[in-house]
Amino acid sequence: MRAVILDAPGVLTVRDVADPSLGADTDAVVRVTATAICGADLFPYHGHVPGFEMSTILGHEFAGVVETVGDHVRTVKPGDRVACTSTISCGTCAHCRAGRSSQCPDRALFGYSGVYRQLHGGQADRVLIPNAERCLRVIPDGIADEVAVFVSDMLPTGYSAVRRADVTPGDVVVVVGCGTVGLMAILFAVRTARRVIAVDAIAARRELASRLGAQAVAPDQAAEAIAAATGGLGADAVIEAAGSAGALTAAIGMARGQGTISVVGAHFEPDFPLNLGLMFEKELTLRVTWGHPFNDRDRIFALLAEGQIDPTPAITHRFALSDAAEAYRIFDAREAVKVILRP
Ligand SMILES: [Zn+2]
Ligand SMILES: [Zn+2]
Repeated sequence: MRAVILDAPGVLTVRDVADPSLGADTDAVVRVTATAICGADLFPYHGHVPGFEMSTILGHEFAGVVETVGDHVRTVKPGDRVACTSTISCGTCAHCRAGRSSQCPDRALFGYSGVYRQLHGGQADRVLIPNAERCLRVIPDGIADEVAVFVSDMLPTGYSAVRRADVTPGDVVVVVGCGTVGLMAILFAVRTARRVIAVDAIAARRELASRLGAQAVAPDQAAEAIAAATGGLGADAVIEAAGSAGALTAAIGMARGQGTISVVGAHFEPDFPLNLGLMFEKELTLRVTWGHPFNDRDRIFALLAEGQIDPTPAITHRFALSDAAEAYRIFDAREAVKVILRP
């Protein structure tokens, strides 16, 4: 089969490798029909992930059709169209039983071998799914495979961003960063908030945020827009979906007294100049959250099936899997928002 493989930082090839085969009774093999490039894929691409095992097949956002299942897999069968979680987890430890599978000691992200245990990703013709009953869900009729790809990571992360921001009716919510995660947060925030103000320096991303129902502004217009919408109080909730120290500092500055800052941008910097005096003075709440597909995928599928949310405006490019190197190049250059690869 063909697979997108990172051999060294910046050296990405699509080449033939052996097909995966069932190892355990709880495994399944899925034939991938659609897969996406995620911002998280760029960290190993640039060599920024200590311990990353080169020659790993990339990708943790994918959907496809079940080809084979182990003897203990009953919830999906060959021929089923399925979505997969971005991570695996055991399902039996104290964290998993309490609904905190993102903190499972056996967690692993598809396509991130070396950081976690070896687990090849879904940017390939086929992918091996451990613990398949837990990871896979049959895609409801009427939901396209490329839409189901968003249920792996992006939609649950946008959902988490809003849930953890404590958004209530009448609120003004600011979303800092309009990449895919920011756009998915807007999808959910506009369902509750009085107004969603989206902040991004890239005009094309502001255009997408506007299409999804936000008031989109450039960073240098954000303070004025927030003041106008809140009578000068500041935002009730700020979602930081950019993943930079500068964006987080800006987000903290946008919140009103007793406001909440919900961080879903990925951060790896060990130090951050947190103004604790400001946090105390304004009684701010700062939360960091991942997406939780195990917890939230069923309600997200229900919203998709009813047409209440639609992530497809975020898809700006579609490529054949064989053109993955070019797809990564434009994604890395921020010329694309969401890129779908089709094996
Ligand atoms: Zn992702
Ligand atoms: Zn666990």
